[in-house]
Amino acid sequence: TPADQWTAVDAYLTSLLLPADPALDQALRVSQTAGLPAIQVSPLQGKLLHLLAKSIGARRILEIGTLGGYSTIWLARALPPDGVLITLELDPKHAAVARENLAGAGVSERVEIHLGKALDSLARLAEENQPPFDLIFIDADKPNYPAYFEWSLKLSRPGTLIVADNIIRKGRIIESHSGDANVEGMRRFLERVAGEPRVSTAALQTVGSKGYDGFALILVEQ
Ligand code: SAM
Repeated sequence: TPADQWTAVDAYLTSLLLPADPALDQALRVSQTAGLPAIQVSPLQGKLLHLLAKSIGARRILEIGTLGGYSTIWLARALPPDGVLITLELDPKHAAVARENLAGAGVSERVEIHLGKALDSLARLAEENQPPFDLIFIDADKPNYPAYFEWSLKLSRPGTLIVADNIIRKGRIIESHSGDANVEGMRRFLERVAGEPRVSTAALQTVGSKGYDGFALILVEQ
């Protein structure tokens, strides 16, 4: 089937391009053993996030949706020693697993996990007058993506890159009356982004070990 082939190609590219990585492999094992859902980014998607962060010289990264810290490790490793990554997670169990995984990867010093509803944490970050983030990765509950985009804009500067994951929903994103809160949230998000004159956006469909999905790359320009 096509899905088998996408998975096989992903396995080929992963074995070719990504050397064994004990800390990341261990993070996946710990997350699985703890019973976390395996909804983290794929290794190659993690590498893409890492390269994006590195190529823009990111020093401050915001992640919305930590899970077991797998994407967090990829992103944190792109930071200079004095860089900072703030990651937002609702589930205390996920945050505890992430804390263990971040320590295992040696990046704890650069990462702050803010526990609670991301909307509350984002409001707090804005209240604290945090300096703008260089890269923001949106990867939490889909119905809140429109609100996450508003906060991301508030926490941005011209040049900030916003990456939003899971925008394709196996193709259901084209259904205008899906009755699915995730699809509807994602459509409202994309429409909001499309209408925002301060940003410029690309959106790509992806296939691979994570099935059929996609992500948006949003550059804040003003
Ligand atoms: N970025 C992670 C990775 O690739 O390794 C995966 C994140 S997972 C797709 C989404 C996470 O968002 C889950 O851990 C979930 O508990 C968290 N989440 C869901 N709703 C949330 C909310 N309202 N505020 C903060 N986190 C939330």
